[in-house]
Amino acid sequence: MPDGADPLPPLREVIAAHGLAAKRSLGQNFLLDLNLTRRIARAAGPLDGMTVYEVGPGPGGLTRALLAEGAARVVAVERDARCLPALAEIADAFPGRLEVIEADALALDEAVLLKGGPVRVAANLPYNVGTALLVKWLTAETFFWRSLTLMFQREVAERIVAPPGGKAYGRLSVLAQWRTRAKILFDVSPRAFTPPPKVTSAILRLEPLAEPVAPCRLDDLERITEAAFGQRRKMLRQSLKPLLPEDAIRDAGIDPTRRAETLSVAEFAALARAYRPSP
Ligand code: SAM
Repeated sequence: MPDGADPLPPLREVIAAHGLAAKRSLGQNFLLDLNLTRRIARAAGPLDGMTVYEVGPGPGGLTRALLAEGAARVVAVERDARCLPALAEIADAFPGRLEVIEADALALDEAVLLKGGPVRVAANLPYNVGTALLVKWLTAETFFWRSLTLMFQREVAERIVAPPGGKAYGRLSVLAQWRTRAKILFDVSPRAFTPPPKVTSAILRLEPLAEPVAPCRLDDLERITEAAFGQRRKMLRQSLKPLLPEDAIRDAGIDPTRRAETLSVAEFAALARAYRPSP
């Protein structure tokens, strides 16, 4: 097969042949336009020589695109057993390059599953699962991935990339931006999905930074951001009271009368260091 070719039937036919009516309980909104899935696959690249970890392949629109765009290997984790025969057809069309695992991605240890070469992650997931996985991947001690290219509800994507100073800036922004570069690449209209969701989606890409924005322990940063944004309207001297005395906030170079959403990521790291200075 020439590079870039996809020998399989249109996705509408695949879905009809395998009776894959979308299930709301699994957050299934399928992408049927192979031009769009190719665009997402290219956004996840470069894929040559890469293992791609795909979560929630469903009928396989993005899976096919990742393979056709040159991924050396795709490891795909799908919870819905109904999708497995359709995915097996893709594995046959791209021999030795697709491994499908029936599992709940939230329960997997990717570092063990994906041992070996460099990994890129690509996924169009239900939004709640997407956010939970993103937090799992951002809070792992070491990253098993070189890039994450993920579909999110536009509003969630905006929260991840938000700068300080606005309503969208929160815990997820700080966790993501502390040690990754996060960027919204393009929007995806509800009309692109079957069935269409209620809101616009966006493709987001995250890449690890060589070093975190400022040093601190991740668990301390999580604790501080949780407390500070848990009461985001309150001044830090109030919201951080259980963790840090007012003087310690001031000693970290931060005015205790400020509110969480005004702090930069580096200032949160300074508070995390004040909470438990490194030995
Ligand atoms: N990637 C396909 C596409 O773009 O058309 C399907 C997208 S659909 C929004 C999400 C897929 O994730 C569904 O196939 C669903 O069964 C699967 N899924 C949902 N929760 C999952 C989980 N916890 N682990 C693995 N797959 C999951």
